[in-house]
Amino acid sequence: MVVGCGSVGSEVVRLLAGRISHWTLVDNGCVSVFNPHRQWFGTAEIGTRKVLALRRRLAPAEVLAIDRACDAERLDDFRSVLRRARPHLVVLSAGTSEQGPLARVLWRMGVPHVVAWAYPQARYFEVNVVLPQHGTPCLHCLRSHLAAGPAAPPPVRDELASFLYQELSGADREQAYRDLVAEPATPVDTARLAAVTTACVVEALRPPLDRAPWFRRLLREKTTCLLGGNQVTEIGGRPAYGIQRPGQVIRLGLEDLVRGTGACPGCGRCLPVAAGERAAEANEPNLSSRAADEGLLLASGA
Ligand SMILES: [Zn+2]
Repeated sequence: MVVGCGSVGSEVVRLLAGRISHWTLVDNGCVSVFNPHRQWFGTAEIGTRKVLALRRRLAPAEVLAIDRACDAERLDDFRSVLRRARPHLVVLSAGTSEQGPLARVLWRMGVPHVVAWAYPQARYFEVNVVLPQHGTPCLHCLRSHLAAGPAAPPPVRDELASFLYQELSGADREQAYRDLVAEPATPVDTARLAAVTTACVVEALRPPLDRAPWFRRLLREKTTCLLGGNQVTEIGGRPAYGIQRPGQVIRLGLEDLVRGTGACPGCGRCLPVAAGERAAEANEPNLSSRAADEGLLLASGA
């Protein structure tokens, strides 16, 4: 099941086409003139509902096309879609602000999920693998609590600046920034995020003993947050997010936590922040032997 069929979701579908026989696709959008550049749609499909265009492309696979939004305002809808579709795994590739509430529902229903998230302009990205049956951290355990080196300031490019500096109300500007935060991005940037997400989906769906060593290690060490970068940005002589070369992906987990609020708001478990405090004191992410990219490069064919 894929929630959000845009630059990440539709590309994940393309990469898995022919390998999965039953799909559920959730998106309430139409293919726009901007989409064929970075999404798995053609110009002949402009104006078509995205889920219907993908259903045609995936034939003869069986596709349940849900042409409506599943977001934080409609969690009951989301629960009923899950009960109907009974997915083995859900890819959350919808808007960033929607992922937290949807992931909480998935955790509580025990549904495995992979959450893809682009940082501003998709220069960096995060993929979280959450497998409740394996006792992995939930999305909320790790997000925003990790020591991953200094953050890269978002570049305000001409397109974004002209939008942000219009005469807008504060609320409209806030919404505009949320909607545009991953834009503009190139197909190379978002394709890398889609490839890493797909590699995780493939491994998560395999029987445990058939999984690749890199994925088994990720589960065993609970380093289930993969942080990738398409470029390197130096901040005060240190690489942003600990990414030292373009295309690198690092693993982060409970040992990299720098702060927490006690019980996790997603799963209710108490988070071991002590180890993370050591990482924070050292002012470095706890990345020793945490390069995840070799396995991912092999697994994704990138
Ligand atoms: Zn949690």
